[in-house]
Amino acid sequence: MRVQGERFTSIERNLPRSADGRVCGEPGCTTRLSVYNEQEFCALHAPMVVPRMRGKVLDD
Ligand SMILES: [Zn+2]
Repeated sequence: MRVQGERFTSIERNLPRSADGRVCGEPGCTTRLSVYNEQEFCALHAPMVVPRMRGKVLDD
């Protein structure tokens, strides 16, 4: 069985700052952002506010 590999050429090179071609705002990061993702960064670089589980501290 032959599997045609998906060729990732230099598509990532062309990074149009358009509605459907946004990438992470972190310099060097080319992670595509979902169109529905209103954030400026990808999941890795998003300024994440660690949600505190109030009232349920297991390990402290
Ligand atoms: Zn990123």
